[in-house]
Amino acid sequence: MKQVIYLDNAATTRTRPEVVEAMMPFFTEHYGNPSSVYEFSTPCKKAIAHTREIIAKSLGAKANEIYFTAGGTEADNWAIKATAEAYAEKGKHIITSKIEHHAVLHTCEYLEKRGFEVTYLDVDEYGTIKLDELKKAIRPDTILISIMFANNEIGTVEPVKEIGRIAKEHGILFHTDAVQAYGHLPINVDEYGIDMLSSSSHKLNGPKGIGFLYIRTGLKTRSFVHGGAQERKRRGGTENVPGIAGYGKAVEIAMATMEERTKKETELRDYLIEQVIAQVPYTRLNGHRTSRLSNNANFAFQFIEGESLLIMLDSSGICGSSGSACTSGSLDPSHVLLAIGLPHEIAHGSLRLTLNEENTKEEMDFVVEQIKEIVAKLRSMSPLYEDFMKRSR
Ligand code: PLP
Repeated sequence: MKQVIYLDNAATTRTRPEVVEAMMPFFTEHYGNPSSVYEFSTPCKKAIAHTREIIAKSLGAKANEIYFTAGGTEADNWAIKATAEAYAEKGKHIITSKIEHHAVLHTCEYLEKRGFEVTYLDVDEYGTIKLDELKKAIRPDTILISIMFANNEIGTVEPVKEIGRIAKEHGILFHTDAVQAYGHLPINVDEYGIDMLSSSSHKLNGPKGIGFLYIRTGLKTRSFVHGGAQERKRRGGTENVPGIAGYGKAVEIAMATMEERTKKETELRDYLIEQVIAQVPYTRLNGHRTSRLSNNANFAFQFIEGESLLIMLDSSGICGSSGSACTSGSLDPSHVLLAIGLPHEIAHGSLRLTLNEENTKEEMDFVVEQIKEIVAKLRSMSPLYEDFMKRSR
């Protein structure tokens, strides 16, 4: 396999060897069904309980408030649909934002077709929620505010504490999609006033296909996946025991290394941003300069197509993304870039690079060099650029 520089850690991350090691016995030796009564299944039950404890501790929550799901998408669907159903008698209004992941946006659209009303809040040019607009959007029939902790495309970290406070003041439930933030930023559900929180293991060096939804005690919620009595009868289906064991290990490592890891990533991220902005003219950074995830850099290069840039970077062994992985393959510009006010043609020239702590300065230098060359080449073929240069002479 050719050498790659992997800069798409917001799409997914490498499963750590320690995580794979923690999972292996649950494929080979301890393959029992955790619902079975015999002792052979005890290690499986213990592994599930252990991961639940680790996750609860990391959030300042209780173990029985953590429900395993098949990932972030399911957790978002569960939080929003089940709350809507359980609180429909109180009201049918939900507030979210225009920059949420499609797991939230499409769930809200689904509910709109079933009689719910949804307010999609605007964001400012950095992708930050406007708190005064949030306050104005609240109505007597508002039952839920669902705002992401940090954006998956542009990395902007939202004012979650303030949102939590506003929700509490008005007696409204607050769900946050923390898929990109959990394991990367310290989160305490009480301090932040969070009632429900979604996470996904493969964004923090754990396996794919496993996530959780935190649900605060006392909330009226409904079973989302109907079936067996797993997850206290709220999420049927035989547990993904290897996945849960691996998730526990990944969370343990993510929490223990958070400070050092994010410091290193921030330094590399800032170096990459400075170099790209300095060396590639007509380029802007998307997202907030400081209130942003430690590993996220997102650029808009004027006069080029992000897809062409991506393909040419791939030929140089560099993995990036032109928006969110879930929307690549579509020709529509990213809804997030449009929401921060980028015109279509500039939104089309975007590139997301998301680092990890294993990346090096040498890799960043190589990436900057490649971007510089490729952008110049693409611009030399661009009629828009030619026209712009003629007019600016
Ligand atoms: N929410 C956000 C913010 C994400 O970035 C993603 C994945 O990219 C998801 C939800 C969906 O998570 P999963 O891939 O585990 O279903």
